[in-house]
Amino acid sequence: MPESPYPMIPIEEAIDLVLQAVQPLPPVRAPFNDALGLVLAEDVHAAEPMPPFRAASVDGYAVIASDTAAIRQVVGDQSAGYVDDVQVTPGTAVRVTTGAPVPPGADAMVMVEFTEKQGGYVEIKTNVTPGRSIRAVGQDLADGQLVLAQGSLLGAPDIGLLAMIGKTQVLVHPAPRVGVMSTGDELVEPGNPLKPGQIRDANRFSLMSAVREAEGVPIDLGKVTDETGSLQETIERGLGKADALLTSGGVSMGQLDLVKPYLAEHGKIHFGRVRAKPGKPVTLATLKGVPVFAMPGFPVSALVSFEIYVRPALLKMAGRTHVHRPRRRVTLTHDVPHIAGRTEFQRAIVTHSTGGRYTAVTTGFQGSGRLLSMHGANALLVLPYQQADFPAGTEVEAIMTGPAQETDREPQ
Ligand code: AMP
Ligand code: MG
Repeated sequence: MPESPYPMIPIEEAIDLVLQAVQPLPPVRAPFNDALGLVLAEDVHAAEPMPPFRAASVDGYAVIASDTAAIRQVVGDQSAGYVDDVQVTPGTAVRVTTGAPVPPGADAMVMVEFTEKQGGYVEIKTNVTPGRSIRAVGQDLADGQLVLAQGSLLGAPDIGLLAMIGKTQVLVHPAPRVGVMSTGDELVEPGNPLKPGQIRDANRFSLMSAVREAEGVPIDLGKVTDETGSLQETIERGLGKADALLTSGGVSMGQLDLVKPYLAEHGKIHFGRVRAKPGKPVTLATLKGVPVFAMPGFPVSALVSFEIYVRPALLKMAGRTHVHRPRRRVTLTHDVPHIAGRTEFQRAIVTHSTGGRYTAVTTGFQGSGRLLSMHGANALLVLPYQQADFPAGTEVEAIMTGPAQETDREPQ
């Protein structure tokens, strides 16, 4: 039997090699409204205080707090968006809307609910303290304040903050563009009927979707036949426009498995075998400085390998500092057969009960071709290679690929 020239390395070592091989992408300037989900590559400061003027936080009357008159003459109106020529003096009040500048002279606002209008006068029916219902200048953001630090992942509030301070262009790490190709003479497009010996290409679509879920931008490089020329043409096309390449299939030991030899000849292979099931032949190479992840062909192997090696790489390229999924200890609710020798990732549904327990049920037959075993799964159970067969009640580690299901029933 021919032996693979690549040593079988532990999963942790492979992940380390991946994270050494990729770096955050050079920052680019982007319109702030396109920056959702990206990582900021500069510190952003406020260039004015917020609010920029003393603003009324209620609809009501601007008054002088120490004024003792119960009934005051209404000497004007001040609406949001304008600065009217009005002033509050002892014995007077100005009617003001929420968000409007508090007129000079006034040091408090009285909510309209605590007043009674009497012709050109208003009765104040509450105690007034200085500063009441006024948002001071710079109360929310001081002039020059650091608003968003370099390295921040931009969420919805952050896009609002950028709008608020008038920062319309920001320096961000771009989302990685990831070229995705499938290899195999047996593959046809999803819309096609199958001739004998053919199957439909599933991996290109699951992997492009996984890229999207990892907030990368997939580039469809199409199908590659099991010939070096076809592979070369597609890889070269991809190198011109992608920050990373993903291939699937063609990395095993068959005579038509051309991907590894091609990568070895034209680039540097960092690893070519991992002590993992599924995903043993997963390969990382760099070609002209671009990381190439060669995934196994079986649909589960391809997607599980994406989850373990590619997703953290894409997050690092996007400038993220937290690139790993959360892990937790979960209790198996049933016997889980496992063959020692390789660490196995079994797809499972993890449930959190109100009692605080996390339990796991696997998704049925765990064959590498059975993509349905990933449907609905929110976790990959990590069954270490040193041990065989995990009986019900065993605690194992789970990589949480989604939130645990919640139940108010205690599991059996
Ligand atoms: P390979 O790694 O090329 O030997 O492929 C392993 C298995 O995965 C074979 O049964 C292939 O037919 C299947 N396979 C390869 N690529 C794909 C794909 N893109 N979509 C679905 N199945 C695939
Ligand atoms: Mg193949």
